Amino acid sequence: MSVFVSGATGFIAQHIVGQLLDQDYKVIGSARSQAKIDDLQAKFGNNPNLSMVIVPDIAKLDAFDEAFKAHGKEIKYVLHTASPFEFNVTDYEKDLLIPARNGTLGILEAIKKYAADTVERVVITSSFAAIMDLMNLDKDDLVFTEESWNPDTWESCQRNGPSAYCGSKKIAEEAAWKFYNENKDKVKFKLSAVNPVYVFGPQRFDSDVTKTLNTSCEFINAALHSTPENETQSFSGGYVDVRDVARAHLYAFQKENTIGQRLLMSQGRFSTQDILNYLNADFPALKGTIPVGNPAEGIEHSTKGAKTDNHKTKEILGFEFMGLKQTIDDTAAQILKHEGRL
Ligand code: NDP
Repeated sequence: MSVFVSGATGFIAQHIVGQLLDQDYKVIGSARSQAKIDDLQAKFGNNPNLSMVIVPDIAKLDAFDEAFKAHGKEIKYVLHTASPFEFNVTDYEKDLLIPARNGTLGILEAIKKYAADTVERVVITSSFAAIMDLMNLDKDDLVFTEESWNPDTWESCQRNGPSAYCGSKKIAEEAAWKFYNENKDKVKFKLSAVNPVYVFGPQRFDSDVTKTLNTSCEFINAALHSTPENETQSFSGGYVDVRDVARAHLYAFQKENTIGQRLLMSQGRFSTQDILNYLNADFPALKGTIPVGNPAEGIEHSTKGAKTDNHKTKEILGFEFMGLKQTIDDTAAQILKHEGRL
């Protein structure tokens, strides 16, 4: 029996696929094109346990039908990671909302149609974006937990790219739980969600280090390519390492205590200044090439603004998450080595 991973070419998904293959699972991944399939299979050394299918566009509600018609009876676990994660979009519905929602509904419908008796566990890669309230992040008394939901609607989230992305993740995850509750008697599977804050960490393969990285790692990449004269825009959020997020996806279908849960993956907070502080302290070769900023203004240990309480998730998972220094340093070291700067 196999694990199906949608969007297997993605930053987080490649770590998930790697951990699954390390644990001797048979994996069926989906990717948008044959070229992407060939590239991914080559990176995993043409491992015979990794097979792939083409799913060109998850915005189409029947996108997963062919894959599940052909392989549904071999699939025991489904990890749905595919969803657009971009802020620089102009058509919020076409670029974010529709693929996020339809991708989720489409894969669940395909399971119901072709694998209702075989698929036992489904894990949706949701996001902290589905949990937080973007308009109230400055409120000191606000606490986000596994029970919190982003209050935006399809209409109200279309303010700008980040807001529409948050809306897309909320709407997609909400649709998944609704589908699950309405179809419990027609499908065998149990549902879990993984809700990470910004995910840092190295790309699974050094060859994936490109000029511009995936949206979350690009914060560190941009800081590495900023100059003392040309600082990057200041930004802050929560962080967690990709290796921990991948591990949580495996626990989410392997353990009983993750059934019906939203796993809020966060280890703490960061700002652009915190990234600069670690880069300047830990990579002497960067001295004078990147900004120093105002080191005292880092927010890693600040208690201002809305808080995140994910002690429930940490108890369920029972493993330590990596800290900010390690995730920044590992991300930066891979980029600097690739560029011959280390
Ligand atoms: P990536 O952009 O690296 O991966 C996204 C994946 O989704 C890729 O495989 C991409 O395919 C696929 N995809 C996107 N749109 C479509 C589409 N219309 N049709 C088919 N496939 C599509 O991002 P991440 O790995 O960071 O994100 C993976 C998941 O994790 C997403 O659901 C994201 O929302 C979620 N997430 C990410 C966080 C982060 O900080 N990175 C934080 C919280 C949640 P292709 O490779 O061809 O572009």
